[in-house]
Amino acid sequence: MKKIAVLTSGGDSPGMNAAVRAVVRKGIFHEMDVYGVYQGYAGLMEGNMKKLELGSVGDIIHRGGTILYTARSEEFKTDEGQNKALTHLRNNGIEGLVVIGGDGSYRGAGKLTEKGFPCIGLPGTIDNDIPGTDFTIGFDTALNTVVSAIDKIRDTATSHDRTFIIEVMGRHAGDIALWSGLAGGAETILIPERKHDLSDVMVRLKKGIERGKKHSIIVLAEGVGSADELASKLKDQFSLETRISVLGHIQRGGTPTGLDRVLASRLGARAVELLFDGKGGRAVGMQNQKIIDHDIIEILKHKDQVVEGLYTLSQQLSI
Ligand code: ADP
Repeated sequence: MKKIAVLTSGGDSPGMNAAVRAVVRKGIFHEMDVYGVYQGYAGLMEGNMKKLELGSVGDIIHRGGTILYTARSEEFKTDEGQNKALTHLRNNGIEGLVVIGGDGSYRGAGKLTEKGFPCIGLPGTIDNDIPGTDFTIGFDTALNTVVSAIDKIRDTATSHDRTFIIEVMGRHAGDIALWSGLAGGAETILIPERKHDLSDVMVRLKKGIERGKKHSIIVLAEGVGSADELASKLKDQFSLETRISVLGHIQRGGTPTGLDRVLASRLGARAVELLFDGKGGRAVGMQNQKIIDHDIIEILKHKDQVVEGLYTLSQQLSI
């Protein structure tokens, strides 16, 4: 392939810029023309794209968000929407597309590939919920944002002898809650992948208080329910007063960590190598420190699991 394009789609994540930079620079290294598509699939259907040069991606490796902007588009889920996008790609002589986004974006890339246009998916989401890769681009940054919030809340929780509920992102995947809870020494972690019983939560909290703990922290993934709901239940059922903190969108932004930048660079480079070799319909990831690729449609049939043993470990270490 001599002409390729790149877009970012769905929820943004820190490190997407580093991935865009890698795609552009690696493409130009292989003497390809690389186009940037603005505003994801919505922009693709409008033909909103321009050729990027080496300098177009200068000074972005350290920036959160995405210089290509992102969007969600219902129209793109239809045949007509996808055909519109294909027309623009073909009219511009583009032969392959790199899509950086979450599982929804992968499905879109799968659809274009099925229609004969080679696409490569890169996992860009803070949720770490894409099968076929140990980590997604942005997860490490979000994790560190949450850990630093937990550390700060712990200071005030200790000073006042308080129980805090910290609600973090993760509608279907508990990775942010689990990893940040473990790293932040939370007493209790509630994630969608593991059932919980409120009286067990109370037993754990009470044990800690009895042995003189000055604070308790519960990290709650939003997919389990809201911090407000949990606070009401703890008050009504156990007369436990809590304070809540909902971290929200600060988890999506910020300077990407070194790990996210390196991951994004490695994955972006592999995406270009695949297209350079004429291969499409692949999802690129990293497993056991190796950059690998899977069939982009097949891989979504698997469910991403939390790392075996991590939940149990978090419980064992927070007694
Ligand atoms: P994410 O990629 O972060 O999971 P979304 O689920 O919102 O975010 O997906 C991003 C975009 O991908 C959607 O707005 C839509 O345009 C496209 N998309 C999602 N699912 C499909 C699908 N089944 N077929 C075609 N396109 C899809």
